Amino acid sequence: MTPEERFAGTRERLASIAGRVSPLALACSFGAEDMVLLDMVADLGLPIEVFSLDTGRLPAETYELMQTVRERYPAVTVRYYYPDAAALGAWVTEHGVNAFYLSIDHRKSCCAIRKLEPLERALAGKAGWITGLRREQSPTRQGVPEEETDAGHGLLKFNPLADWSEAEVWTYVKTRDVPFNALHERHYPSIGCAPCTRAIAVGEDIRAGRWWWENPETRECGLHPARAVRNGRK
Ligand code: SF4
Repeated sequence: MTPEERFAGTRERLASIAGRVSPLALACSFGAEDMVLLDMVADLGLPIEVFSLDTGRLPAETYELMQTVRERYPAVTVRYYYPDAAALGAWVTEHGVNAFYLSIDHRKSCCAIRKLEPLERALAGKAGWITGLRREQSPTRQGVPEEETDAGHGLLKFNPLADWSEAEVWTYVKTRDVPFNALHERHYPSIGCAPCTRAIAVGEDIRAGRWWWENPETRECGLHPARAVRNGRK
């Protein structure tokens, strides 16, 4: 399959999803995959709400890209969700501002307050949501299907880039001159919160820079629960 055929197929799939599921939301953390999807949604004028979770600990480069997106895609409104101030204040007061390094439980409770609870609010009332997950991103994502039931949130979940390669993502970005996070050019293929993301070395897994101090099997924040590793596609 040529890149052009891949891109056209995904655009058709996105339009088809938007035609049969409503209301629909695209989760955007401003990584390269999310930028591909945002560009398609904007270009096709699809009725898909774009939302982003601002944890308050994102890298400066991500905030710069948020502003660039506003200017590049004036027809797209990105809705931002923030952690509950009281819950976050209580957590930091009790544990410390960088307590996520202390244990997996501390890290997961920080992710719960800064990401999971805001995600619940972002998805409230939606019939489906779209993500930029790809199977080759990590061991925890090898079983990602293109469409699934998100039982935890009680709605459909679509991963239209599930079988895209990293090279295809970047071909799309470059061909369409899509803005992207400057950290991608500094060996950050996967970008999350600043204190929990580092650059990777040659040959390391794409998500090796996320929560690098933990075992690879635990390196998900709960937005996309880890799955059993399967052979082949679902
Ligand atoms: S990625 Fe790190 S800083 Fe961000 S919510 Fe999770 S533990 Fe907290």
